[in-house]
Amino acid sequence: MRFSLLLAALALAAPAAAQPSPAEHPLLRQLAGQVSEARLHATIAKLVSFGTRHTGSETKSPTRGIGAARRWIAAEFQAASKDCGGRLRIETPSQVMTAERLAGPTEVVDVLAVLPGTSDPGRVIVISGHYDSRATDAKDFTSDAPGANDDGSGTAAVIEAARVLCKQRFPATLVFAALAGEEEGLLGGKVLADYAVKQGWRVEADLNNDIVGNTGSLRGARIDTRVRVFSEGTRTTETAAEADKRRYNGGEVDSPSRNLARFMDGLADRYIPDLDVMMVYRTDRYGRGGDQNEMLKAGFPAVRVTEAVENYNRQHQDVRTEGGIQYGDLIEGVDFPYLAKVTRLNVVTLAALAMAPAPPEGVDIAGAVSPDTTVKWTPAADAADYRAWWRETTAPQWTQSRRVGVSGEAKLANVNIDDWLFGLSAISADGWESPVVFPGPAGSFKRAPPQPAKP
Ligand SMILES: [Zn+2]
Repeated sequence: MRFSLLLAALALAAPAAAQPSPAEHPLLRQLAGQVSEARLHATIAKLVSFGTRHTGSETKSPTRGIGAARRWIAAEFQAASKDCGGRLRIETPSQVMTAERLAGPTEVVDVLAVLPGTSDPGRVIVISGHYDSRATDAKDFTSDAPGANDDGSGTAAVIEAARVLCKQRFPATLVFAALAGEEEGLLGGKVLADYAVKQGWRVEADLNNDIVGNTGSLRGARIDTRVRVFSEGTRTTETAAEADKRRYNGGEVDSPSRNLARFMDGLADRYIPDLDVMMVYRTDRYGRGGDQNEMLKAGFPAVRVTEAVENYNRQHQDVRTEGGIQYGDLIEGVDFPYLAKVTRLNVVTLAALAMAPAPPEGVDIAGAVSPDTTVKWTPAADAADYRAWWRETTAPQWTQSRRVGVSGEAKLANVNIDDWLFGLSAISADGWESPVVFPGPAGSFKRAPPQPAKP
């Protein structure tokens, strides 16, 4: 979004900083610098070595199948923890599930590493990827299914983020999640969402990384300077009454997930050289899905991170050569310098979110039939200041902002409520800033549980 921001800045003759705001954080550059291409490569090579990681595959063998893979992932988290004073807690929530693509009831096991927050451990930021893989036939649990990119790449990003971030202390909790059962219908995403609800986690974000390492398209283009961040426009759990209000006053492009995408876009511009975020105003690619959907259904903000161009010959295909074309999800199809950049964006986003105060709650605006707009919110102890943001109703990024103090109410004089979309971010004493929160239930980061179906 760099280019359009530049235009906006010129047009308005005022600094039009995208989130997150003016404060520069050397810690983020330092953490990004610790992401290792070699480690990402070693992780994917090891994951591929298990032959298949189909959710219905072998679980007893020490070298083949999903059981061996998940034990190895848990051991990797343990090793990372050993290097950082034992700070990671390894948890393996599971459910016995049935699905059309599984031969019978199957244990779906997620492998999580939890880095507890120092001051508010109930606040939770998640990065996820799925470690299961598949061949051409979705029910084939014996053929080789290397899954190097889908989703060895996301799993490698999760493990690398755990290794880099566990040496740091954060006010909020970070959860590094390797999920199973994605290829059978987002089963591991459901296990994670149920577990988060049961634990009472206040999940503020799930960055779901699925297919993040390929840079070549089937038409020959190579794109290694862009990553797509998919986000829903309105909340999956929005009620009919909320939808009515939102249709009238706006908010159809300001779900918490969308403002999370904007937050990532701003971080990429500032901290990740040669990587631009392409925000896509969709929950996922057309007609396709990912584990973030299950988090959204549970009422948590979540985005999908995916490479800019996909190579469909390498997804969900048996390994073979046909008509001179190589099919199958082999490690040769992963661009490691690119995967490292995407991992850096994740690391920087997780750190920025976990250092910042919680996204503001109780955000509301007033000012109908008046030349001014009043922003109201519920002040929180972890914020030393707040910033009101506004942008034109057709603009993709926040462009205008003003610090508004901690009273819980601020008047934006001569800013007409009809002409802009508004938001509010929280700022800590040391300058860390939360994502922008759009007013009302449409934009709130607070969990909105799904409504029970009407009888
Ligand atoms: Zn996938």
